Formats: sequence, C-alpha cells, structure tokens
Amino acid sequence: MSNIVAIVGRPNVGKSTLYNRLTETRKAIVDDFSGVTRDRHYGVSEWTDHQFTVIDTGGYVANSADIFEAAIREQVEIAIEEASVILFMVDVTTGITDLDDEIATMLRKSKKPVFVVVNKLDNNALLSDATEFYSLGLGEIYSISSMTGSGTGELLDEVVKHF
Ligand code: GDP
Ligand code: MG
Repeated sequence: MSNIVAIVGRPNVGKSTLYNRLTETRKAIVDDFSGVTRDRHYGVSEWTDHQFTVIDTGGYVANSADIFEAAIREQVEIAIEEASVILFMVDVTTGITDLDDEIATMLRKSKKPVFVVVNKLDNNALLSDATEFYSLGLGEIYSISSMTGSGTGELLDEVVKHF
C-alpha cells in the first residue's frame, strides 16, 4: 500500500492512543522483524474512502536515556523516508520540550507533509494553550483529543488530501 501515515513524537504524548483509535476493529499488520522494526506497529485505517497504513512508532526496546533519544531520532528518520504523511504529535499539557524542538528541526528539513497534532485537548479550556505550538515552525496545528476522538475527523480530512 502506498498511503502511509507515520505518527512520531516523544514518549507519552499519546501516539499509541491515536494509533489504536485509527486502527481499531481492523487487523494489525503483524511483522516479525527485529531491532528498530520491532519498535513500529503497522495497522490499516480508512477515512472517506481512502485506505491507508498507519505506523505507530516508539515501543522502544531500549531503556537507557541516550539510546532512547537516539531511537526516537531514528524513528523520525525512517518516517521521513517511508511515510507519505507524518503526524508529529505533541502534548498540550506539557507544552514544547527540548525533544519536541529537536524533532521539529529534523522535520522542517524534510520534504514530506508534516501535521503538527496537538493532543490531549480534552476540553476547550486548553484551546488557547495549543497556539504555542505554532512556534515549532511547521505551519498549521491540529488540536485533538486521542482519548475522546475530538478533532481527529478534521485532521484526517486534511491528511487524505495528500494521497
Ligand atoms: P505514546 O507513548 O506517545 O504512545 O502515548 P500513549 O498513547 O501510550 O499515551 C500516554 C498517556 O497519555 C496514557 O496515559 C494515555 O491514556 C494518555 N493520553 C493519550 N491521549 C490522551 C488524550 O487525548 N487526553 C488525555 N487526557 N490523555 C491522553
Ligand atoms: Mg506508544
């Protein structure tokens, strides 16, 4: 399949929660590889007649803090290589961290479409906090709650335009 959406970002921002929401009731593509591949989950999703593969990155086999950051960078590099669209997920409850800045720098250099997905907007009270993520320099931001699903339809409407 050629439509590939990769979800990248630092740990705990909600990548797997979104992945599960997008791929639930559909079969995961089980693979059997080692190393960095084992850190990636592939699933099938669809939106308005578009089928696509979703990649959740960052199960993170390694524990050490250094390897951990290197693993995240590696996942971002692979996403830049293989994805049609990259969802860069950040967390409104923590704001921008150093690691977010580092990932943003990598993504700004890529030619792939990147969507800044501001997660954990469970209610409108946090909506104004999300605007700080414009300073990542990656254009429009998409405010969602992976938990409730709010905002994900508007995000996917834009994502499928790139297929
Ligand atoms: P990952 O490490 O990026 O894959 O993040 P997870 O999907 O494992 O989520 C990390 C934590 O954030 C979990 O405790 C989730 O329940 C929580 N979480 C994920 N999405 C949301 C959300 O939209 N709102 C809130 N309040 N919590 C969320
Ligand atoms: Mg995860």
